[in-house]
Amino acid sequence: MMERIAVFPGSFDPFTVGHESIVLRGLDLFDRIIVAIGQNTTKHNRFSVEQRIRMVQEIFANEPRVEVAAFEGLTVDFCRSINATFILRGLRTSADFEFERAIGQMNKMMNDNIETVFLLTSTSHTPINSSIVREIIQNSGDVTPFIPKSLDIQKYLKE
Ligand code: ADP
Repeated sequence: MMERIAVFPGSFDPFTVGHESIVLRGLDLFDRIIVAIGQNTTKHNRFSVEQRIRMVQEIFANEPRVEVAAFEGLTVDFCRSINATFILRGLRTSADFEFERAIGQMNKMMNDNIETVFLLTSTSHTPINSSIVREIIQNSGDVTPFIPKSLDIQKYLKE
């Protein structure tokens, strides 16, 4: 049988407990999940792509079905290049929905073989987003409640 491979695309700057939860829940649906770090040159990043790759590797060190990769260009093209037929996304709010609907529908028009699958965020993770986490870091606040337990973010902040 064909392996069910999902790409979970995003900036993950940094990877939060919300992202972790979507991946862990996705493992019930897919054989393999590729966390795909988009190289968005227009966004201001706090962590380098290389650091974000290492962070995801550290978080899922004990989960061989989760891999991480960086990609440039269209998500559908990246999916095709690794034989992934699903895109996994999290939905927090109605604003997320409007944004995701357009991207998901246009991706479907570009490649009809790829299905986008949305998981509703767990209630406790709904407010968590990476840009606020970056702001807290900027202002020397404690972000550990928002970061996966298995990740030592202090290490990356000192690099
Ligand atoms: P992007 O740059 O595409 O917004 P993010 O790294 O912010 O990338 O998000 C990647 C994916 O993770 C998106 O599908 C987003 O909806 C989802 N996500 C972000 N934060 C959370 C959260 N707190 N709980 C669940 N899903 C989330």
